[in-house]
Amino acid sequence: MAVPMKFLSEELDAMKQAGLYGTIRTLESPQGAWVHIDGKKYLNLCSNNYLGLCNDPRLVAKVKEYADRYGVGPGAVRTIAGTMSPHIELEKKLAAFKGAEAAIVVQSGFCANLTVIPTLAGGADDLIFSDSLNHASIIDACRLSKAKVIRYEHSDMADLKKKLEENSDGKGKKLLITDGVFSMDGDVAKLPEIVELCEKHGVIVAVDDAHGEGVLGRGGRGIVDHFSLHGRVDVEIGTMSKAFGVMGGMAAGSAVLVDYLRQKARPNLFSSALTIPDVAANLASVEILQESETLVKKLWSNGDFLKKELGALGFDTAHSETPITPVIIGEASDAKAFSAKLFERGVFATAIVFPTVPRGTARIRAMVSAAHSEDDLRFAVEQFAAVGREMGVIS
Ligand SMILES: *Cc1c(COP(=O)(O)O)cnc(C)c1O
Repeated sequence: MAVPMKFLSEELDAMKQAGLYGTIRTLESPQGAWVHIDGKKYLNLCSNNYLGLCNDPRLVAKVKEYADRYGVGPGAVRTIAGTMSPHIELEKKLAAFKGAEAAIVVQSGFCANLTVIPTLAGGADDLIFSDSLNHASIIDACRLSKAKVIRYEHSDMADLKKKLEENSDGKGKKLLITDGVFSMDGDVAKLPEIVELCEKHGVIVAVDDAHGEGVLGRGGRGIVDHFSLHGRVDVEIGTMSKAFGVMGGMAAGSAVLVDYLRQKARPNLFSSALTIPDVAANLASVEILQESETLVKKLWSNGDFLKKELGALGFDTAHSETPITPVIIGEASDAKAFSAKLFERGVFATAIVFPTVPRGTARIRAMVSAAHSEDDLRFAVEQFAAVGREMGVIS
């Protein structure tokens, strides 16, 4: 290889030596409770397909209907010629679902953070208060802003209060951004306290509810609904790639906020609109959620079941408050071995290791779905029990 490119193979080799090179598996079937990998069936405990909507026939039918009517590609960015009536239809539906005045749809949850954070707090005089465990897309969006980023200890309200007080003067704008549900532990941001502190200090509150949409709140309306904080959270950022089962990001809030983002946010100005099939499938997802709470309830009962059964076996499932079920193993190499043994037994559940989680807390993160039956989860518990005993994680 040419000398200037040598670092590629060198760094990849170093990753392999350190056991940090990830195996990327290919699914040969749709998402669902069970998936096909290398010609075999595995119980899927890895996907963010919380409600089992990824392969729902109602979504697929809507995609076909809209593709027949509108085609596929948007042809342009939203601000030139890429805004089509399905985009507006979805934005109205999402705003109504979230109880917000308005919403803007963008290409992904990652893009939604790039849409909101540098646009609202981009100046060198601005300050961004950010939870230390925020998602990588929030961290990157903060990096794209010229604002000073002030990290507070994870969900530590005393530390946040101290940092707000220390930075109470200054002429710039102030924005706080937090994950709604922290995806590695499944804990929920202390949003009522955050809102109270931010109201006191004149700070804009933005919450990225990627793992809360379709999960928390009445019928999956999200974290703001969960805490009844309507009108007190300035920006709700979200994704449609998790519970909604599709792809796409959003920001919801006041009409003037959305108007501002439409005119100024760079992902809206310089990256083409979400495709029609994505928009159509998302429309079907919101309609399903508006009609019934059945899937959301099933998701929670599945999560409760798995946590209870694994806890009874002696596993440490940490302090999750949501269906996300972390199973703490400890060392990264042990968590990887645990995941590999589960896979041999037909359970697809990945190990999450440093730097995604702190050293010594490597884990298997089990993601339950409304698509799992109780028998599926019993099968998972049996395999966890067998591997846990074999590796001495439980007795
Ligand atoms: C998953 C996730 C994202 C990224 O969403 P995509 O739609 O997959 O780009 C952003 N923020 C948080 C908190 C997430 O968990």
